[in-house]
Amino acid sequence: MNCARCGREAPDDAIYCPHCVAERKVSQAQVINGGLKGGAIGLALGLLFATVLLGYYDLERGIKAIVLALPIATFTTGLIIGLVRAKTDWK
Ligand SMILES: [Zn+2]
Repeated sequence: MNCARCGREAPDDAIYCPHCVAERKVSQAQVINGGLKGGAIGLALGLLFATVLLGYYDLERGIKAIVLALPIATFTTGLIIGLVRAKTDWK
């Protein structure tokens, strides 16, 4: 049986592919990378939305806080999604 994930030979009765399990130990960095990538995408989206918002509304009262909070919120969301996705990729 070949592993569906890495394509290498795995024992027929193996629950986890030994190659993937061995690689899993060093993929802490991959999870962090995934989280940072998600965070970067979230931040970019947040800044984009903030720019759009600023285009519609000038820096009126209240808008400033939203424009500041938006990229932080989207960054955090992206970071969490990125971490979770990188972790589930391990399976
Ligand atoms: Zn594998």
